Parts: sequence; structure tokens; C-alpha cells
Amino acid sequence: MEIKKAKNYVNGQWVSPTNNGWMDVNNPSTGKIIGKVPFSSLTEANSAVEVALKAYKKWKDVPVGRRVQPLFKLAQLLRENEEKISRVLTEEMGKSLPDSRAEMKRAIENCEAACGMPILQQGEKLVGASLNIDGEVLRMPIGVFGVIAPFNFPAMVPFWFLPYALATGNTLVLKPSERVPFTMQFITELIEKSGFPPGVFNLLNGNKETADALVSHPSVKGVSIVGSSSVCRQVAEKCIRLGKRFQAMGSAKNHLVIMPDAKIDEVIRNMITSCYGCAGQRCMASSAIIAVGEKMYKTVCEKFVQASKKVLVANPLDPAFQKEEMLMGPVISPKAKQFISDMIETGVKEGATLALDGRNYVVEGNENGYFIGPTVFIDVKPGMSIHTTEIFGPVVVILKADSIDTAIEIINNHKYGNGASIYTQNGYYSRRFKLEAEAGMIGINIGIPAPVAALPFGGMKESLFSDIKAQGKSIIDFYTEEKIITERYWPENKI
Ligand code: NAD
Repeated sequence: MEIKKAKNYVNGQWVSPTNNGWMDVNNPSTGKIIGKVPFSSLTEANSAVEVALKAYKKWKDVPVGRRVQPLFKLAQLLRENEEKISRVLTEEMGKSLPDSRAEMKRAIENCEAACGMPILQQGEKLVGASLNIDGEVLRMPIGVFGVIAPFNFPAMVPFWFLPYALATGNTLVLKPSERVPFTMQFITELIEKSGFPPGVFNLLNGNKETADALVSHPSVKGVSIVGSSSVCRQVAEKCIRLGKRFQAMGSAKNHLVIMPDAKIDEVIRNMITSCYGCAGQRCMASSAIIAVGEKMYKTVCEKFVQASKKVLVANPLDPAFQKEEMLMGPVISPKAKQFISDMIETGVKEGATLALDGRNYVVEGNENGYFIGPTVFIDVKPGMSIHTTEIFGPVVVILKADSIDTAIEIINNHKYGNGASIYTQNGYYSRRFKLEAEAGMIGINIGIPAPVAALPFGGMKESLFSDIKAQGKSIIDFYTEEKIITERYWPENKI
């Protein structure tokens, strides 16, 4: 069988990068190599940016109503190919097929939202701003933008940015995660068919050096990076030094608060999907549960461990299990598996009780897959490393709080603040939580919620290093420069 090799898409052409190094891409369920990804060189990165700059000079002047036409087409093509792309995504990333389909739906939704650009990009006018003066605010495109994506949402994360960047009249160079290049390969084939002029969208495969070349290029006016906080911080600092705009969305540890009045039997399933979807490899995964009150703590520990044992761990492409609703696939790599196993060992050494141990999990027929079973720690204290660290795997820690105040304090003392949810029947608790919990995205009686495309997406504290969030109306501020016009009334000049 011929091994597939990822290519770059630059200036409307598919190109194989020169020999600057290649990396194997593995199916995490089987460990088998499914293809290779190239590390594009500095010269290749520079050439992609230069092509994008040339394309920008024409694209910015295309009327906005025309700029969105390829996006209408792309949304339709994505919908028609949703199932095929979901399979490619599941094969290289390992999440379940329902999770991949949900990811595709959000990507399509972002495409549709950006089709409203003729309204979203409108400026403002203040007639008579001063004596004989009108004031006007224009929203101008800026130039070439870069996107650096993480492995866990190979389709959705690029679409938090791509449709908006292009619809506002900018051009783009996108670098997918080197661990999951084939989802964007497929999607780029659809972008090619959707009618954007050459050079408006460019796909550049590579590693961190490739990403750095993109960030460093003087013609790249802004960068969106989604990844671990340490990498986001580095990119953010570099962008500040170089005077570029940036969005940098980092790591997370998201808390679910269970109040004593929560209807635990009704919400347990919702908690389980929130914790174990994508094997816990979501920036919006719930990974810490805070039960309020001794009674609820005992109930949560017992019921959550029981329900965790029922999660089916399997190869998501195994036809025998594709109809299973709560199926959990592998983690992304042997390195990730090792890190998660080490963190479990650390939790034991720190004195937490390992109520369910997912290490050494073997899936029959997929013995070389990178599987870890659901893992639950109880008797966890705030400040233990299993509570402070983003483990990014199916490991859940359960803490106890004596009141809503303590629960909120635990959340607010945590360095990350992406999402937080509360389960309660009480409006007072709910209101306090939504106003006081320091997290960018709040859920009320729902697991950590990823907002729909029409709303902004982004956290707080060390989960977000920029002011502007992804998607929603706020992304228009990122992709446009406000120009403020002060214009004296024109004298009457009759012909
Ligand atoms: P990662 O930080 O390893 O890599 C992310 C991207 O950055 C990749 O494309 C990688 O090639 C590139 N990169 C790596 N080092 C770089 C450097 N020094 N300079 C420039 N680019 C560099 O992250 P990952 O493992 O792919 O993704 C998982 C992480 O992403 C988790 O921490 C998760 O919480 C986070 N994440 C956050 C959000 C959010 O909205 N906050 C969403 C999804 C994922």
C-alpha cells in the first residue's frame, strides 16, 4: 500500500515540500503509520507568505458580497463530505465518530456565520460629529494572517478563524498540527473547489520551526495560535515584540461544581460525556469535579466511578462499536500516554485515592493503540499536581467543598480559566456562579459548553493570552483595522 504524504497548498497549487524532514503520522487506535507529514522549510514558509501578500493586494478590493460566495459553496461542500472528513479525522486523531461529526458541524456553522460579513463588517457614521464635520469609522482588512492549530480539533479550530479572515478581505497561511495533517488536506481540496482566487488561502505543513517562520515573517500582520499555554505564551511574547496582533488560546483545567440540590441521576451522563469525550483531550473537557457538602461528595464519588466503569474504550473505527453512544478512543501518542500514566503515578504519590485506574488498558485487537481507560481520583486537595496540571487525558479528579464560596474560590485560585459549570436547581447559586467564577465560558446545568459559532469562544487567565476571542462578533475586530475619518462638509459646488 502506498503511504500518503501530506502536501502544501500554495498559490492554488499542491506542492511537495523539499526535503526538510518528514514525520510519521500514526493512527492512535492501532499505532499503524497512515502517512507522512513534511516539515516545510523557512524558504517554503516565506514563499507561502509572499504569495498570500500578493493575493491580498487584489482580494481586499473584491466587494464583500462576492468575497463570501466561496464560503457559501464551502459550507455546502463540507456538509456533503461531512461523513468522509469525520472518518479521516477519527483515523488520525482517535476521537469517536459522533465527536468528529460534531466537530464538523461546528466548522460548517462558522463558515455560515462568516457569510454574514456584509453586515458584520459594516462601519459606523456619525453625521454632524462636530460643526460642519462628519465622523466615520471604517473596518478595513489588514493583510496576511497566520493560524497555528492544535491536534485535538483539526477541523474546528482552523474554522474559528479561516472563514472570518477571508471574508473580511485578508489572506491566510494555515499550519495544522503536524500530528493530524490529513483532515485539513481533505478540507483544502474542498476549499480549492469553492472558488477562492489562488493565494487567498494557503496550507503549510510543518513543525514548530515552520510555525515560528510564519510568526516571524514581517508581512504576517497577525497570528492566531491555539495550543498549550507555554507555546501560546512564547508566540504571544514574540508577537508583542514584533508589533503584531495575536490571539493565543492555551491550556485548561475545567471544573464542574455539583451543588447539594443537583439531580445527580439526571446529570451523571452529561458529566461523563463532558469528562471523557475525545478521551479528555479537549480544552473544554471537564477534568475536575467539585462536590459541595459531605453527602453530595460521597454520592458523586460513588456514582461517577460507577458510570466511568461503563464507558466503552475501543477503536472508534471498529465496525462492531460504531453505534455505541459513549465510546472513548485512544490518546494521541505514546508520549501523551506516558505523560498521563506518569501523572496518575504522581497523584498516587501525592496521597489522592485512585478510585479507578485506567493504566495498562488493552483493547483487544488493538494492542498497539495508545489507550488509557477512564481514571478517577478522589480525596483530591486543591494544589495537588493532578489538580493544578492539565493532564489532557481521561483522568478526572474529585474535590470536596463545604459551600459555593469554597467551590468558587477553588476555581478562582486555579491558574487556568477556560470553562466552568455548575449543576443546581437554585437560581441564587446559578447567578452567583455565572458572575463570580473566573472562567471565560460558563455552563449552567450542562457540562463545560463550547459556545456556538455566533458567540465568542475563549477563556481567561492562563487559558487566553490575548484580548480578542475566537469566532463570534469579536473576531471581526481582530481581522479588521478601524480607520476613523473626520470629514469637513463639502461646499456646494453646483455644475
Ligand atoms: P502544542 O502547544 O503542542 O501545539 C500547538 C501548535 O503549535 C502546533 O501546530 C505546533 O506545531 C505549534 N508549536 C509548537 N511549539 C511551537 C513554538 N515554539 N512556536 C510556534 N508554534 C509551535 O498543543 P497541542 O498538543 O497540539 O494541543 C493541545 C493543547 O491545546 C492543550 O493544552 C489544549 O488545552 C490546547 N487547546 C486550547 C484550546 C482553547 O481554545 N483554549 C483549544 C484547543 C486546544
